[in-house]
Amino acid sequence: MLHAHPIPAFDDNYIWALRGHTPDKIVVVDPGDADVVLSYLRNHEAQLVGILVTHHHWDHTGGVEALTERFNVPVYGPANSPFSGITEPLEDGSEIEVLDNRLQVRAVPGHTLDHIAYLQPDQRPQLFCGDTLFLAGCGRLFEGTPQQMQAAMDYFASLPDETEVFCTHEYSIANLRFAQAVEPQNAAITRALERCTERRQDKRPTLPSTIGAERQYNPYMRTREASVKSSAEQHCGRGLINEIEVFAAVREWKNNF
Ligand SMILES: [Zn+2]
Repeated sequence: MLHAHPIPAFDDNYIWALRGHTPDKIVVVDPGDADVVLSYLRNHEAQLVGILVTHHHWDHTGGVEALTERFNVPVYGPANSPFSGITEPLEDGSEIEVLDNRLQVRAVPGHTLDHIAYLQPDQRPQLFCGDTLFLAGCGRLFEGTPQQMQAAMDYFASLPDETEVFCTHEYSIANLRFAQAVEPQNAAITRALERCTERRQDKRPTLPSTIGAERQYNPYMRTREASVKSSAEQHCGRGLINEIEVFAAVREWKNNF
């Protein structure tokens, strides 16, 4: 198991700082900003030993160059990425060892075409999913198709309920408000909204989430539920024939919400 600590960056990003058994060795996920990582390392008297990248967007990769200038560390990331700073290219099905933990790599295109997720699959599974899965939400489709993102959601839904989900943005409250518009009768959404609102009032992160929780309230993981389907049909004013069409309609609805 990895210990994961969120380093806030920009307006609403989290850079996850990972630690194994050795407290002074840190790996960071998606360091968009080097300065906040450097001050975290200073405050914890820790040393950077690696970087994991999920996709090429600047708010996930912008700090890599400054960090690798100071630390000679491996930069893991997708082999098909337009981002040029990756030294350990990974593909769907790759396995890596990070801080004595085995991580499985899964291609999850949709938000971008190069997007990958990292899964630590042991007793307490942990998922580092970048901008693909958010608490009650999913990333915008900048490069991929609804079919690709639905396939990513199906992969996430196949993971054990207790899997912790380390998303990279604090979008939870806005996402839950939208989820509530899609499924007004879903009590799990009301409970999650209360919990997240309380946490944000104390300026605490709402993350990590869990796969079990997402299955209860994330509309993009619930595209086969009758309640989500009929709500999406009502919103777009036509019948939707399968989960991919439902996914596309819900995503489009959220874009204008
Ligand atoms: Zn992104």
